[in-house]
Formats: sequence, C-alpha cells, structure tokens
Amino acid sequence: MKCNEIFEKLGDYIDKDLEGDICAEIESHIKDCEPCIAFINTLKKTVELFHTVSEPEEPHIPEPVSNNLMEFLRKEISSGEK
Ligand SMILES: [Zn+2]
Repeated sequence: MKCNEIFEKLGDYIDKDLEGDICAEIESHIKDCEPCIAFINTLKKTVELFHTVSEPEEPHIPEPVSNNLMEFLRKEISSGEK
C-alpha cells in the first residue's frame, strides 16, 4: 500500500471503521513510514481535540474539516519529500 492510499483510509482507521485485514496492512505500513506516523499522530490529536469540543452524539469529524485537514497534511508531507 502507498502512503496516499494509507492517508485516504486513516480517517476510517482511527474511527475503527475498517476490516481487520485492512487495519493490519495499515499498521504494518505505518510502523516504518515516518510521514505516515507523523500524519496519524496529527490526525489523532485533531480527532481527540474535536471529540472534546463536540457533542457526544456526533463522534465524527464533519466532512469539510476532515477534507481540509487531509489536504493540508498531504501538502505538508509532500513538501517534506526530497
Ligand atoms: Zn507511508
């Protein structure tokens, strides 16, 4: 799996919305991929932050926030690539 494919699935991964074998693939990739580790850490922090300020019955990040975040992080990560 490539980083881009991982990024697209990370939202679901964090929400524990993926099948076990896809989770395993993501986990084995992010173990030794620094951009993905940085990405997932940022995403987790953002999700936690969002959970603390949102209503308990709305556990998901609204689509626009999630999309903007993905876009931002993708640019951050690709600008760091040499
Ligand atoms: Zn990666």
